[in-house]
Amino acid sequence: MNAFNLPMRPILLALLALLIVLYGIWAIRHGGIDRLTAVILLALTGVLVWQGMAERSWLATQSRLSAVATQIAGTPVKVHCQRFSETYFSASSAEGIVGVDETGAPKGEADLTYSACRDLAAWIGSNKASPTREQMIAVHVLTHEAMHVSGITAEGEAECESLSFDARVAELLGASSKEATALATYYRTKVYPSMPAGYRTKNCRWA
Ligand SMILES: [Zn+2]
Repeated sequence: MNAFNLPMRPILLALLALLIVLYGIWAIRHGGIDRLTAVILLALTGVLVWQGMAERSWLATQSRLSAVATQIAGTPVKVHCQRFSETYFSASSAEGIVGVDETGAPKGEADLTYSACRDLAAWIGSNKASPTREQMIAVHVLTHEAMHVSGITAEGEAECESLSFDARVAELLGASSKEATALATYYRTKVYPSMPAGYRTKNCRWA
């Protein structure tokens, strides 16, 4: 967002689509337009409108995730969801990353991968009765990153503490308490035990 708090990308895409439509009208009035050009312009407009709508819902997901992470971390968290185009430039294999400042303290920003955000958005938009494994992990990824922003830098500790917040996060994102408990239980019993050693602590009180 910016000084005016406007979603710039959807606005730019809409403006671009409008420019193409205006150019098409102008071209038709001044000597016509051949069929191929018309098809290209229409296709381009369609892609831009589709991109703009996708961007709008991506922004809505980001702000929903930011609000929930903020509540869990107890400090402002700005979630950034990777766009599909960014996946090609990401060298990281982690599902989420929290940046730290020069003193090593976490910044209030959490980057989530495209696939984590896509799974979160799909789960939020579903009836939540039968989430996929990926969707349940994606909810946990949000909890885990919120733990980092709250000040827990060690992976094992962040992972352990997030086990106790998964159900709350799921509820804040719209799950019933039964669905939230089932999701948290699944992660704790089916995913957590197979996490790499660096993500587990010996005496995690929530495991
Ligand atoms: Zn982590």
